[in-house]
Amino acid sequence: MSRVILIAWDGADWRILDPLLERGDLPNLQALIDRGCKSVLKSTIPTHSWAAWPSFLTGVDPADHGVYDILETVPGTHKAYPVTYKSIKERTFLADLTAAGKRQLLLDVPLTFPAPEINGNLIAGGVLPKGRSVSFPADLQDTLSKAGLEWPINGMSWTTYRNRPDAYLDEALAVTGKRIKASEWLMDNTEWDLFATVWVSVDRTQHCLSNYVAPDHPDFAKNTTTAIGAKTRSIYKQLDDAIGSFLQRSKPDDLILFISDHGFQSCTRALHMDHLLHQFGYLEFSASNAIFGPMQWGPVRNVARKVYDKLGLHGKVSLPQSVNWSKSQAYTSIRSTGEGVSINLAGRDPDGIVDPADYEEVRAKIMDRLSSFVDPKTGRTPVKAIYRREDVFKGKHADTAPDILMEPAEGYSLTHAKSAIEDADWVSGDHRMDGVIVAAGPGVQPFATTPMLIDMAPTILAALDAPAGIKHTGSVLTSVVGSEASVKSEAVAGTVEIADEEPTVTDTEADEMEEHLRGLGYLE
Ligand SMILES: [Zn+2]
Repeated sequence: MSRVILIAWDGADWRILDPLLERGDLPNLQALIDRGCKSVLKSTIPTHSWAAWPSFLTGVDPADHGVYDILETVPGTHKAYPVTYKSIKERTFLADLTAAGKRQLLLDVPLTFPAPEINGNLIAGGVLPKGRSVSFPADLQDTLSKAGLEWPINGMSWTTYRNRPDAYLDEALAVTGKRIKASEWLMDNTEWDLFATVWVSVDRTQHCLSNYVAPDHPDFAKNTTTAIGAKTRSIYKQLDDAIGSFLQRSKPDDLILFISDHGFQSCTRALHMDHLLHQFGYLEFSASNAIFGPMQWGPVRNVARKVYDKLGLHGKVSLPQSVNWSKSQAYTSIRSTGEGVSINLAGRDPDGIVDPADYEEVRAKIMDRLSSFVDPKTGRTPVKAIYRREDVFKGKHADTAPDILMEPAEGYSLTHAKSAIEDADWVSGDHRMDGVIVAAGPGVQPFATTPMLIDMAPTILAALDAPAGIKHTGSVLTSVVGSEASVKSEAVAGTVEIADEEPTVTDTEADEMEEHLRGLGYLE
């Protein structure tokens, strides 16, 4: 029986990997490509890890699993908390593999906290609260430490290291190095039919240092030859060495998958969607903006944090959005990337003011303003594509989706700015749809069509001959598992049990996670 080894580099893009492959910097990935097939892997809309990884885990679009952003709002309030495994409102393939008796080793897959009870071992990924077990079984980290190993959580907060790339790269290499050693030990000392592992240093690095590693960035030519350029490439080399080490532990008939959850494009300009809506006259800020607005900016942010502490705001106004709701017709509803805007609709949104009878007209006007908005500095339009909710989302959780969705044009980030639009500061790269895939194994054939991230769950189940508990939106990639392989569906209900029955995160933990999210540039 063949096994599946899935190695994911969060945010990897051929635009960056191809030149590194040509330089000979990634010999192990090159060897995998040479014995397999490579392609683009289409991500989800919205194009970020928080929506994409649940689509990986479930095989369905965000409209069917209900995760659209790094935050989810408590219904009927403006309180928002970081999303967790419990936010995924659909059965994952982990439940299917568990039901089929297949053993799993899952490491750092985003949104697997709180750790589900699976047949196997799991260390959660994503943004995690400190001081809690983030594994299944709960003592897995103790087991690692008895073996002299460590699995550091969180880290790589790239906004914290603004203008200190050396220190950022040191931390990213150190954290990743420890996780690689722990992964090798777990591969050797646990039983698994599926080994799936996600490496986030690529995504974090490309957000802040695309100008050193991405040829489509205007500063690339002058930066690539510097010492920081070389050190940035070492992030990829470290993970390439890990591919070599993991694949040394594979058997000839194992299916090997190398993927990313989304691609990356460089940016030199950044927007702030709430400020842009304010400029258009659709949003008024609340007075608290004076406190919360400057938080991401170095020393000012630290002062602002202290004010936040002093006023005892922790847990009371978790993750506030500085909007005066009684005077705003629209607001940013995908705050991590700025890709979603919603109408402040009466009867749906708490404090909604737009009459449902006016919804279509207001939305059409806002879409028109957003899509025709021209960057005064470059003369270009930052919004490449714009969609109405119903044109993208058909699933059962479509009613909680943003009303308007956008994709950024090349050169633009729709978030990470202090004003409506400005030169990008520390951010030099942001997400795009086109991720990567390499498949190698006995049945692998060249890809006939472009595979999608939502194809991964049914494909993994087909490869391991495990029935699916739900109908996936994605399909089995026959070019990966052969034309005879299929995924049987089985009428099973429910999701994988989660051990604790307490609230997923406490308010204090939400505050800690919020702090880390700010460090990752996902919140202002
Ligand atoms: Zn990212």
